[in-house]
Amino acid sequence: MAYRIEDSCISCGACAAECPVEAITQGDTQFIIDEDTCIDCGNCANVCPVGAPVEA
Ligand code: SF4
Ligand code: SF4
Repeated sequence: MAYRIEDSCISCGACAAECPVEAITQGDTQFIIDEDTCIDCGNCANVCPVGAPVEA
């Protein structure tokens, strides 16, 4: 299980700063999660202002 980031991401960067395993990086149009690295902690969902990270 891992999280993914939906299209509603506004690229604020808050999630990347809170990810304990650095699974989140800035993509061309939004931030993205490396699902092989994500440990499903939920930090990104907790800090996102628009609720973009969801459980995949
Ligand atoms: Fe990182 Fe946790 Fe979000 Fe996975 S759920 S991308 S480990 S902050
Ligand atoms: Fe996108 Fe939410 Fe992460 Fe900000 S915290 S970069 S809006 S997913």
